[in-house]
Amino acid sequence: MSTFDSELILRMALPGPLRRIFDYLPPSGCTSAQLQPGVRLRVPFGRRKLVGVLLDVADHSELALQKLRRAEALLDSQPILPQELLALMHWASRYYQHSIGEVILGSLPTLLRQGQAARAKTESCWQLSPAGWKTDPGSLKRAPKQAALLQILQQYPAGLDASSLNQQQLNWRSSMARLVLKGWVTIRKREFTLTSPAEADKPKAVAPALNPHQQAVLDAISTGLDHYQCYLLNGITGSGKTEVYLQVIQKVLTAGRQVLVLAPEIGLTPQLMQRFRERLSQQINGPIALLHSGLSDQARLDNWLACAAGRAGVLIGTRSALFTPLPKLGLIILDEEHDLSFKQQDSFRYNARDLAIVRARKAGIPIILGSATPSLESLHNVAQQRSQMLLLPERAGNAQRPQLHLLDIRHQKLEQGLSAQLLTRVRQHLDDKGQVLLFINRRGYAPVLMCHECGWHARCLRCDAHMTVHHGQQQLRCHHCGSQRPVNRGCPDCNSGNLHFMGAGTERVEDTLTARFPHIRILRIDRDSTRRKGSLDQKLAEIQRGAPVILVGTQMLAKGHHFPNVTLVGMLDADYGLFSADFRASERMGQLLLQVAGRAGRAERAGEVLIQTHQPDNPLLHFLLRHDYPGFSQSLLKERAEAQLPPYSHLALLRAESPEAEAAMQFLQQAKQQAALIQPQLLAFGPLPAPMERRAGRFRAQLLFQHHQRGELQQWLARLMPPLENMKSARKVRWSIDVDPMEMY
Ligand code: ADP
Ligand code: ZN
Ligand code: ZN
Repeated sequence: MSTFDSELILRMALPGPLRRIFDYLPPSGCTSAQLQPGVRLRVPFGRRKLVGVLLDVADHSELALQKLRRAEALLDSQPILPQELLALMHWASRYYQHSIGEVILGSLPTLLRQGQAARAKTESCWQLSPAGWKTDPGSLKRAPKQAALLQILQQYPAGLDASSLNQQQLNWRSSMARLVLKGWVTIRKREFTLTSPAEADKPKAVAPALNPHQQAVLDAISTGLDHYQCYLLNGITGSGKTEVYLQVIQKVLTAGRQVLVLAPEIGLTPQLMQRFRERLSQQINGPIALLHSGLSDQARLDNWLACAAGRAGVLIGTRSALFTPLPKLGLIILDEEHDLSFKQQDSFRYNARDLAIVRARKAGIPIILGSATPSLESLHNVAQQRSQMLLLPERAGNAQRPQLHLLDIRHQKLEQGLSAQLLTRVRQHLDDKGQVLLFINRRGYAPVLMCHECGWHARCLRCDAHMTVHHGQQQLRCHHCGSQRPVNRGCPDCNSGNLHFMGAGTERVEDTLTARFPHIRILRIDRDSTRRKGSLDQKLAEIQRGAPVILVGTQMLAKGHHFPNVTLVGMLDADYGLFSADFRASERMGQLLLQVAGRAGRAERAGEVLIQTHQPDNPLLHFLLRHDYPGFSQSLLKERAEAQLPPYSHLALLRAESPEAEAAMQFLQQAKQQAALIQPQLLAFGPLPAPMERRAGRFRAQLLFQHHQRGELQQWLARLMPPLENMKSARKVRWSIDVDPMEMY
């Protein structure tokens, strides 16, 4: 025992991959009352300084006190993370076998992670004083600008901020200064909120009367707002799920609580945000906050703080918004729950859907998972009575369901992926003033550049993959590592000039259609054509205007958009999902197909969906043709049960990669031996080289663990991690563990 044994020990989470907690001594002059879990401290680490989060205060350390370093500064007077959120992060760190430091620090807005003060920006707001209210603008004949300002301010009792004033009047500042000098206007500093006072004053759109199905769903959820329950809201596209969300949210807000709405890639669906803004009365419980990757660091911090302080009523965000403090949280909604983007695929590989359920359960509040095409996992949870299914089987309003048909393209001559039948229908729909959406799951011009003389084809130098032709016929790009180079003029092997572009991507389909329909506007929507800020919005606005156009696009088109004038949807290649190595491929294909089909005929006009396939007899496709997603998913669940694949078992994938050819395999071999020591009965498959072994110059391999019991898998994974971290072969590789992996590469 040292003489300092009464000294407090700070147990800190620090950024970095090590799965451990770090001990420090308190900064000098700090009282124990200030050292609450959830505050940030700056600490020395090697020769660097790090910002960490205090987890706990202990009275002893396993290290000798003399070895402990002293934290340098306390950064917060109040915890920035509440206990229940810290508890959720601990849970996540244990379940996903990930460093608690990365889980916690990674969840914070960048500016907080860097140690900035957790204070919201303030802004000025100009408001009439009592004397100002008594002044008649008409009396200011010789100062027309001041009179106009006075008149504007009289319409906004809550006052106006600079950005709203900029919209109302040019060069208002000097006139405003005069009004302030006269004592008619006061300046108030207020904390940044996400909605300007002017917008908060706007009248809200009226909610439509719900149809009986929607009403039943709303009633079911409304009776259980005071306890945990997981609902799977299974409603076909256009059945009015969003409308139900809005009305449940209104109830929760009225009760004085906050709502968390998680959606995939909301940057891509500005319509959702728009609808929320128009409908939710922000007077009740503060404005709507927004968190997604498209925001600046300052905007992220402001939104985060508005949530943490309880000033925002609703938070709409992408997966990482799950970790935002919401002290009055009363409901979680996760829209499009089947969507893959809820799973983070690198670093901290968590599933926001699964963690959202954990958060709701810990908070004792309901959670609604919504989808037209629920994941097999969620359907299985309903079957196990872990969650309750609510159905919306019909389209809301007057919209009808689209008709689905297969186009058998065996033995057919295709023009860049388009069959003659499909092209004929495209023309007919355009002639009838409809819009057409063509879906192809591949961007770029052509997926392969090949020499017709010797068979050479353009490959990536760093990956086991073909280069995709882009920019018309100008550039080769690797979709796996991002390498690019100019398209070869001649064959590098045989010098022949006879190079062919094989297959078609969105660019090439666009070219073909432009040649075929010279008077029709063709809008391509994929990651390349929408890179520039605002270009997607511009295209979406053009579609909304309703004139006949052809949309050509990738998955981006399947995500939550409303295209009321689209009457024909064509799927160019439905077959790819039927032959993949990934056991989830057919589930994804079905979901994508119905999601894309759901874009057709959402207004009064019935839609038609044409699916090109080489497998017209495939039973899975026939379920989908009949809109029988339940039949489709049951048949897949049966296959999963027979193969003992998730959701009937649980997987964890250990991945490793290295620039050296054998290093990844060697590490995984040893990992497998190590695992067998810990638990001989454990099923371990592999190690095997990854389906694409070399990517970005690294050789990759994987080892799959399987267990029928989630809890047991977690326990022995936890015992496996420390020896793996210490293995000598681990130093030569980059490795990671992916619990409940969603993609098997
Ligand atoms: P989903 O989220 O299931 O795709 P939405 O809530 O977006 O469905 O509804 C689809 C369309 O139907 C929207 O244009 C919406 O305004 C409209 N709608 C929803 N519910 C009703 C209703 N009860 N009465 C009339 N129109 C409705
Ligand atoms: Zn050649
Ligand atoms: Zn590459």
